[in-house]
Amino acid sequence: MISGSTRLAAVIGSPVRHSLSPAIHNAAFEAAGVDWVYVALEVVPGAATAALAAMRALGIGGLSVTMPHKEEVAGAVDVLDPAAAALGSANTVVLQPDGRSAGYSTDGAGFIASLVDAGVDPHGLAVAVIGAGGAARAVIDALARGGASRIDVVNRSADRADVAAALAGPVGHVADPAAIARADLVVNATSIGMGNADLPCDVDLVHAGQCVVDLVYHPLDTALLAAARRRGARTIDGLGMLVHQAVLQQQLWTGITPDPTVMRAAAERELRTRS
Ligand code: NDP
Repeated sequence: MISGSTRLAAVIGSPVRHSLSPAIHNAAFEAAGVDWVYVALEVVPGAATAALAAMRALGIGGLSVTMPHKEEVAGAVDVLDPAAAALGSANTVVLQPDGRSAGYSTDGAGFIASLVDAGVDPHGLAVAVIGAGGAARAVIDALARGGASRIDVVNRSADRADVAAALAGPVGHVADPAAIARADLVVNATSIGMGNADLPCDVDLVHAGQCVVDLVYHPLDTALLAAARRRGARTIDGLGMLVHQAVLQQQLWTGITPDPTVMRAAAERELRTRS
């Protein structure tokens, strides 16, 4: 029940109407009896700094930030956490009691939490990350912090691969697709396979003994994951990262840890209604 004391959280983005975040966050608020509500706000490109000022003026308790605002928000908040500072990108804003805004990047930590949830410890693993965009960079930064022994970045554009691999310091390398066959963990962080059955790599490079993660979550069982399973690899879908980065957001906003199973069920329901 929304009342005079209900707190507000929102996602800002453009476009934002397709976001799964309202379904995920509201399901968890409701299940935990937390008096917060979460909405999606369309914020035109270039207006993120104004949205932050509005957040302070209106006392909005928390923001999720999606494309194209993550970089602008990282530059506009009062303080940044180490991951957001390293990436120059923030996906979460907390309005602190002193009125200052704090920016965080929960994508990378959410990715690691989704691995741990599936029983995979990234420490000491050789990883091939396909892609070098925003999601790939968050994953690479988090894998390096999580102790991966080697991170090979395979990407169409070499200049973006250089920038992404550098985030991992000495364990980061720009690589060609053959690195996929040598990896313990393979991560598709490109948008290939989103809404279709396209493959981000030659699946003959994938084999038993590997774990394959696809950050694409629509469809949930992507062509890459299905092919990897047929070849004997274990697989993890992209909803785990989406859910766990949202868990971390709610912890930051409310101090309460939501139930990831409630969030995942809400996301799956929402995806089913769209397919
Ligand atoms: P970006 O646009 O920042 O990066 C896209 C990446 O995909 C780049 O590496 C790009 O290569 C590559 N790419 C796109 N099209 C092609 C193509 N036809 N051939 C080869 N490479 C291609 O996107 P994001 O990093 O933000 O998102 C990537 C994916 O991850 C999306 O599907 C997104 O939905 C998903 N995602 C999932 C999350 C989750 O929680 N599960 C969280 C965030 C994102 P190049 O550099 O050469 O352009």
